[in-house]
Amino acid sequence: MASAVNPVIDRATVERIVRQVALEYLGRDSKGKSPELVVQASSRHMHVCREDMDVLFGPGSELTFDRPLFQEGNFAAKESVTIVGPRNRLISNLRILGPMRKQSQVELAFTDAIMLGFADIPVRLSGDIAGTPGAIIIGPKGVVELKEGLIRAAIHVHMNPAEAEYFSVKKGDVMKLRVGGPSGVTFNNVHVRIDPTSRLNVHMDTDEANACGLHLSKDVELFK
Ligand SMILES: [Zn+2]
Repeated sequence: MASAVNPVIDRATVERIVRQVALEYLGRDSKGKSPELVVQASSRHMHVCREDMDVLFGPGSELTFDRPLFQEGNFAAKESVTIVGPRNRLISNLRILGPMRKQSQVELAFTDAIMLGFADIPVRLSGDIAGTPGAIIIGPKGVVELKEGLIRAAIHVHMNPAEAEYFSVKKGDVMKLRVGGPSGVTFNNVHVRIDPTSRLNVHMDTDEANACGLHLSKDVELFK
C-alpha cells in the first residue's frame, strides 16, 4: 500500500535541504562533512588610522607589507610601536596590522593588559571602542596619546554567507567552539561575523589559545 505524501514540509526537512544546498554551494560532499575550520590565535597588535600613522611614522607614510594574514587583504606590517600603560610600564615591538583603519585600536590579551598596569580592559568586538581605556603610543617619528581604543578582542568566527547557511547562523549570533585535548576548553561566546570575502576562521587571543593548548590540539569543533 502506498503511503500518503504529507504536503507539509517540517522544519527539520527544510533545515536539511538548506544545509545540503549550502554544502553543494561550498563544493563539499553532502555526507555531513563540515567546511574546513581554521582556528588561530592573534597576538597583541595595533590597527592605526591615517592621522596617527602620520604622527607615529611621519606624514604620508605607508605600512610596509611583511606577511599576509589568513583573511584576504589583511597583513602584518613591518612597522611596530611601543605602548605605555598607566604606571609607565611598557610593551615594545607592538606589531601593526594592515590595512589602515578609520580608528586606531589596540588588541591585547588579558596578560598583556595586566603587564601594562590595567586591572581590566573590556572585551569588545573589533571597532567598538567607545569608552575603552587609552594609552601612550610611541613610534619612530612621534608620540600619540590614544584617548580610547584598548580592547580584549572578543573571540569570533569569520565566515561567508554560504558557511553561515551551513551553520544556520546570522550576524550577531554566538556559537560554541570546543577545543579538545588534555586541557580542552569549550568557548561559549564565539561571535559570528559574516562577510562575502571571509574565509572560515576563528580568532582568539593568546591567553585563550594558551589556556586550551590550541597549538597542540588537532580536535576543534564549531557548533551552535
Ligand atoms: Zn578576526
